[in-house]
Amino acid sequence: MVREGEIRPGEVAIEMPPARDAGLIFIGRIRTPWTSRLMTPRQGRHDGPVCRLEIFEPWVRAIKGVDFYGNLEVLYWLHQSRRDLVLQSPKSNGKTRGAFSLRSPVRPNPIATSIVKLVGVEGNVILVRGLDCLDGTPLLDVKPDRCEFTPLAPPQPGDFETE
Ligand code: SAM
Repeated sequence: MVREGEIRPGEVAIEMPPARDAGLIFIGRIRTPWTSRLMTPRQGRHDGPVCRLEIFEPWVRAIKGVDFYGNLEVLYWLHQSRRDLVLQSPKSNGKTRGAFSLRSPVRPNPIATSIVKLVGVEGNVILVRGLDCLDGTPLLDVKPDRCEFTPLAPPQPGDFETE
């Protein structure tokens, strides 16, 4: 069930410590068909609607090469989430779980990730399927799916030393 700001039985909110700026940069904006959290899927599907990753300048040149991959990992900022619930009751039944045991949008830093299917690239826009966020959600990063990505540099001596 989507939350709009209420506290459910058993849930625990903390007082948020002062924010320390991690220096995040919104590199773009995600365009999806969903304007209400009630309508947004909990997880995206690769047969879901085509969504648009609109990349802002000066990052547009960084798109070069993404069309080599079938799947991409997208990181985005769930800007309408509350951030203060350490214990949550996803089913609203009084049973709680810790935020770090959930993929809930409610978390101290509301960073979301999805593995999406690449549909194409049109100028500054990457077209994908598999998202689950509101229209206008800020975009943090785009990377190749780790299963498809081969590190380009050969291993160097010392790469695997533990001390
Ligand atoms: N796939 C991501 C993950 O696992 O990290 C996000 C999963 S989260 C359960 C997806 C839900 O977050 C949506 O169903 C919607 O309720 C909520 N949501 C989507 N976009 C949001 C936004 N911009 N701000 C706050 N909540 C959002």
